[in-house]
Amino acid sequence: MARTKKNRLIQMAPNFNGFKPQGLHHKCSSQVLINFEEYEALKLCDYELYTQAEAATLMNVSRPTFTRIYESVRRKVAKAFIEGSQIVFDGGNVDVVRWYRCSECDISFTLTDELNQHCPLCKSKSITLNS
Ligand SMILES: [Zn+2]
Repeated sequence: MARTKKNRLIQMAPNFNGFKPQGLHHKCSSQVLINFEEYEALKLCDYELYTQAEAATLMNVSRPTFTRIYESVRRKVAKAFIEGSQIVFDGGNVDVVRWYRCSECDISFTLTDELNQHCPLCKSKSITLNS
Protein backbone atom coordinates (compact mmCIF):
# COMPACT_ATOMS: atom_id res chain seq x y z
CA MET A 1 0.00 0.00 0.00
CA ALA A 2 1.32 3.44 -0.89
CA ARG A 3 2.32 5.58 2.05
CA THR A 4 0.51 8.90 2.01
CA LYS A 5 2.84 11.82 2.50
CA LYS A 6 1.86 14.18 5.28
CA ASN A 7 1.46 17.81 4.29
CA ARG A 8 3.85 20.36 5.73
CA LEU A 9 2.67 23.64 7.19
CA ILE A 10 3.94 26.85 5.69
CA GLN A 11 3.11 30.41 6.76
CA MET A 12 2.92 31.87 3.26
CA ALA A 13 3.86 30.83 -0.25
CA PRO A 14 6.42 33.10 -2.01
CA ASN A 15 4.69 35.95 -3.85
CA PHE A 16 6.98 35.68 -6.87
CA ASN A 17 7.91 32.76 -9.11
CA GLY A 18 11.69 32.54 -8.78
CA PHE A 19 15.02 34.10 -9.77
CA LYS A 20 17.03 34.54 -12.95
CA PRO A 21 20.80 35.08 -13.01
CA GLN A 22 21.94 38.39 -14.50
CA GLY A 23 24.50 38.96 -17.25
CA LEU A 24 24.63 35.53 -18.83
CA HIS A 25 25.46 35.85 -22.53
CA HIS A 26 24.28 32.41 -23.49
CA LYS A 27 20.66 31.47 -23.07
CA CYS A 28 20.08 30.24 -19.56
CA SER A 29 18.52 26.82 -19.86
CA SER A 30 19.15 25.06 -16.58
CA GLN A 31 16.59 25.39 -13.82
CA VAL A 32 16.57 24.47 -10.16
CA LEU A 33 13.13 23.66 -8.76
CA ILE A 34 12.53 24.66 -5.16
CA ASN A 35 9.23 23.52 -3.71
CA PHE A 36 7.27 25.49 -1.12
CA GLU A 37 8.31 23.35 1.84
CA GLU A 38 11.97 23.90 0.93
CA TYR A 39 11.37 27.65 0.56
CA GLU A 40 9.73 27.69 4.00
CA ALA A 41 12.58 25.72 5.61
CA LEU A 42 15.18 28.16 4.28
CA LYS A 43 13.07 31.16 5.30
CA LEU A 44 12.52 29.90 8.85
CA CYS A 45 16.18 29.03 9.55
CA ASP A 46 18.23 31.52 7.52
CA TYR A 47 15.89 34.52 7.34
CA GLU A 48 13.77 34.39 10.50
CA LEU A 49 16.60 32.66 12.42
CA TYR A 50 14.61 29.92 14.10
CA THR A 51 16.54 26.87 15.27
CA GLN A 52 16.00 23.70 13.26
CA ALA A 53 14.01 22.23 16.16
CA GLU A 54 11.70 25.27 16.26
CA ALA A 55 11.32 25.31 12.50
CA ALA A 56 10.44 21.58 12.47
CA THR A 57 7.67 22.26 15.00
CA LEU A 58 6.36 25.20 12.97
CA MET A 59 6.23 23.05 9.83
CA ASN A 60 4.69 20.09 11.65
CA VAL A 61 7.48 17.67 10.66
CA SER A 62 10.02 15.62 12.61
CA ARG A 63 13.46 17.07 13.20
CA PRO A 64 15.19 14.57 10.82
CA THR A 65 12.62 15.33 8.10
CA PHE A 66 13.20 19.04 8.57
CA THR A 67 16.98 18.60 8.33
CA ARG A 68 16.55 16.66 5.08
CA ILE A 69 14.35 19.41 3.56
CA TYR A 70 16.70 22.16 4.78
CA GLU A 71 19.86 20.48 3.43
CA SER A 72 18.12 19.88 0.12
CA VAL A 73 17.16 23.55 -0.35
CA ARG A 74 20.60 24.83 0.69
CA ARG A 75 22.27 22.59 -1.90
CA LYS A 76 19.81 23.73 -4.56
CA VAL A 77 20.40 27.43 -3.83
CA ALA A 78 24.18 26.91 -3.86
CA LYS A 79 23.97 24.99 -7.14
CA ALA A 80 21.89 27.76 -8.74
CA PHE A 81 24.31 30.45 -7.52
CA ILE A 82 27.45 28.65 -8.66
CA GLU A 83 26.14 27.33 -11.97
CA GLY A 84 24.02 30.39 -12.88
CA SER A 85 20.78 28.43 -13.02
CA GLN A 86 17.33 29.88 -12.72
CA ILE A 87 15.43 29.16 -9.53
CA VAL A 88 11.77 28.28 -9.95
CA PHE A 89 9.40 27.92 -7.00
CA ASP A 90 6.92 25.14 -7.54
CA GLY A 91 4.79 22.67 -5.67
CA GLY A 92 5.48 20.47 -2.67
CA ASN A 93 3.14 18.88 -0.15
CA VAL A 94 2.02 21.88 1.84
CA ASP A 95 -0.91 23.37 3.70
CA VAL A 96 -0.77 27.12 4.06
CA VAL A 97 -1.50 28.21 7.61
CA ARG A 98 -4.87 29.96 7.81
CA TRP A 99 -5.13 33.05 9.96
CA TYR A 100 -8.37 34.04 11.66
CA ARG A 101 -9.43 37.25 13.32
CA CYS A 102 -11.74 37.58 16.33
CA SER A 103 -14.34 40.32 15.91
CA GLU A 104 -14.69 40.62 19.71
CA CYS A 105 -11.10 41.15 20.83
CA ASP A 106 -9.48 41.85 17.43
CA ILE A 107 -6.61 39.38 17.68
CA SER A 108 -5.26 37.22 14.86
CA PHE A 109 -4.67 33.54 15.47
CA THR A 110 -4.39 30.13 13.84
CA LEU A 111 -6.58 27.15 14.69
CA THR A 112 -5.13 23.81 15.71
CA ASP A 113 -8.57 22.26 15.35
CA GLU A 114 -10.44 23.53 12.28
CA LEU A 115 -13.64 21.84 13.44
CA ASN A 116 -13.77 23.75 16.70
CA GLN A 117 -13.69 27.34 15.53
CA HIS A 118 -13.59 29.92 18.29
CA CYS A 119 -11.27 32.63 19.54
CA PRO A 120 -8.56 31.12 21.80
CA LEU A 121 -8.67 34.19 24.03
CA CYS A 122 -12.35 35.13 24.58
CA LYS A 123 -13.92 31.91 23.15
CA SER A 124 -16.14 33.95 20.83
CA LYS A 125 -17.36 32.10 17.76
CA SER A 126 -17.50 35.41 15.88
CA ILE A 127 -14.31 34.89 13.87
CA THR A 128 -13.46 35.48 10.22
CA LEU A 129 -10.84 33.99 7.94
CA ASN A 130 -8.24 36.56 6.88
CA SER A 131 -7.62 36.54 3.16
ZN1 LIG B 1 -11.70 36.97 20.94
